[in-house]
Amino acid sequence: MNDILLDSLNDLDPRYPVPQVYDFLASPDNRDILEYVSRDPFGCHVFPGDIKDYPLEAYFQDMAHDIAQAKQIHLWVSIPTCRYRCHFCQFPTIILNPQSAPSQAVFRQLVDYNIKEATLWLDKVPTLAGAEVGEFNIFGGTPSLLPAAELQRLMAFYRQHFNLSAATLRFEGEPATLTKSYLELLKALGFSKISFGVQSFNNDIIAACGRRHTAETCEQTIANAREVGFDWISIDLIYGLPGQSVDDVKYDMEKCRELAISHVVCTKLHLAEFMKQRTGVSGQRQSLWQKKGANSQAFPGLGKQYQMRELIERYLAADYREHPTMYFHRNTQPAEKWKGLITDLDKQYPEVAIGLGGSSKCSLAEAINITDYRRYKAVLDEGQLPIDSSQGFSPLQREVNAFKMALSTLRPVCNHEFRKRFDGRSFFSNPFISRALKTLTSKTLLTVSDDVVTLTPNGVTLVEAIINTQFSSGDIWKLPVTNTDVSAPVFSLYYIAIDTEAGVTNAQFEAFVREKGCKIPCYPGWRWTLLRGLRGERTGQFMMLYEIESAECRDRYQRADGNLTPLAHQFWRDRPQAQELLREWQRLGTFSALPTLYTDYHLLAENKKSTVTDGPRYRERPGEEAEARVIGIHNLALRPDVDAQAFETFIAENHHRIEDYPDWKFRLLKGERGNRLDQYVVMMEIASLAALDQFYPQPDIATDEAAIFAQAHRDTKQMYEEWKQLASFSGSPQIYTDYLAVAESQPDEDNRGD
Ligand code: SF4
Repeated sequence: MNDILLDSLNDLDPRYPVPQVYDFLASPDNRDILEYVSRDPFGCHVFPGDIKDYPLEAYFQDMAHDIAQAKQIHLWVSIPTCRYRCHFCQFPTIILNPQSAPSQAVFRQLVDYNIKEATLWLDKVPTLAGAEVGEFNIFGGTPSLLPAAELQRLMAFYRQHFNLSAATLRFEGEPATLTKSYLELLKALGFSKISFGVQSFNNDIIAACGRRHTAETCEQTIANAREVGFDWISIDLIYGLPGQSVDDVKYDMEKCRELAISHVVCTKLHLAEFMKQRTGVSGQRQSLWQKKGANSQAFPGLGKQYQMRELIERYLAADYREHPTMYFHRNTQPAEKWKGLITDLDKQYPEVAIGLGGSSKCSLAEAINITDYRRYKAVLDEGQLPIDSSQGFSPLQREVNAFKMALSTLRPVCNHEFRKRFDGRSFFSNPFISRALKTLTSKTLLTVSDDVVTLTPNGVTLVEAIINTQFSSGDIWKLPVTNTDVSAPVFSLYYIAIDTEAGVTNAQFEAFVREKGCKIPCYPGWRWTLLRGLRGERTGQFMMLYEIESAECRDRYQRADGNLTPLAHQFWRDRPQAQELLREWQRLGTFSALPTLYTDYHLLAENKKSTVTDGPRYRERPGEEAEARVIGIHNLALRPDVDAQAFETFIAENHHRIEDYPDWKFRLLKGERGNRLDQYVVMMEIASLAALDQFYPQPDIATDEAAIFAQAHRDTKQMYEEWKQLASFSGSPQIYTDYLAVAESQPDEDNRGD
């Protein structure tokens, strides 16, 4: 069968070694990676969120929170204008003749709108003004088209309104427009780093890309920059361009060494198939090669691309280090600072982007700006930030992204550092990372030793493919573990004590909660049930059970350390009437707030076939006996030598075998935060006391009906026996309490529309 991917991999230059990754990519076992590297957009080591349409107010709160925690931020400005369109370009950029009179008005307008946008950011996140900027970047487009007066105006604004006191300033331009006088202007404005696209040192290839400069211009720009006093000069090169041979890339590398360039970015171009059919970057426009067609025969195949890539690694090995992937820096110079600020595991600081198509992010959420210039301006004219889409990161995805970013640096990823970032959680306890590590180790793309993950040489070459295929959300959903449902509800348990010393009785406390306490509002997506211990360890004692729609919904209001987010503080400020009720509650007993002991549990598995519905857990109706559910909280422990992954995989693969008694519902939860971190509980929800008594009228004593049910559901019984080989089970001898619901929160009218 004709296999175009293997054909492309077999497109090799016989005068160069077969790439080291050839055998790996040719193996049918690694087809997913071959498919990825054949179709990926270039420069795509991006780390998208997994919660779509994340509310913008929550996003700004998250940004403010992360900015307050971070030592520094990366701030960047996009000036989307160019004097021609490169044939491969899919960026949103406005093509202008920089000399024409009308263009001067556009430059002014670009700066005006940029300032307007930055001002709106400062309104939304006032602490941004004082945040220490680690690196300030002006990207493009071609910002070096900006007339001197406009660039000065832009810089005066940023210097006045942001904290650039510790920032390095970096500027991206186009070689022909970075004239000596422009470089002097940049130097005078405080820039110490410049960056520009060379793409190739072969003039025919440069011309075939539609770029209007020559290799000689690039060399002259480098010489001029040095004369003006820049010792930080970063150039962009592309490999895989039409008509480009491995020899051409070898020549590019020789030029880099000869010119002793301080920083080189080597980017792999899309393959022909991608260039002809798909759009990358903004996803908005086709490249000129797509529109007008490029000679597909002229595109080097995948095999040649990897020969080029490995040649680059070999040529630069003596004098350069790669950090992160594709970014090479001379041994005598530090790595690209802005990349380190956002990808190094000990940093991963927030990034704020101002301008068309910019993307800003923090550890909790990200947002991408509009890429259409007209719409961008219209939204700003309405006084809104021009944000097109926003996404949040679920807790597990946050860990995955942090790990992937760390991997992209090509440095060993250390669990010690990871634990510092995630409140002591190991990356091995994240099911997605742990599974990926197993797969990648077996594929010899990385090694794991002493809590440190290190990429092998093949892993370094294929790191983007690793990041984008082994941890992607699409893949996450296929995991056998059931806690992959990142939008699953969170169950939170808070121990509650009444003030018996002051003579408060259970009956008084319950009466208050039912009459008044239940009116204390809940955050949107949250509800609680007050439970009283019916039998077992905590008989007669209280517990608050929160059920929260999802982890992201919880995280909007509560931080990982149990404290409230700014959005939560705002919630309470907006509801002053709740304060009096809260004070009254606290005169009788404790409320579900620190320092109360609590645990947040995420859902590992549940019986979806159960007859127990999602209805209220406690309900009173005039003239009728109150309806109250029973909630059994049964703690579990793993047997010696059984690891969490083995138990969870067993549960994931077998929980469908569980048939519950009528009106009973099984859930398995795992402690995610708080006092019982990583511990398991079975949470059994039973529709009524009668339904409990029907099968277990006394602790651990089953009725005949329970025995008959077990006979009729032998596979469930068998599954429980298999379970017991791995972990303890509900009921004795483990600690457990069956609770009875005695009150429930009432829906908060004010929450509508929150
Ligand atoms: S690739 Fe860069 S320089 Fe070329 S047109 Fe696009 S934005 Fe402008």
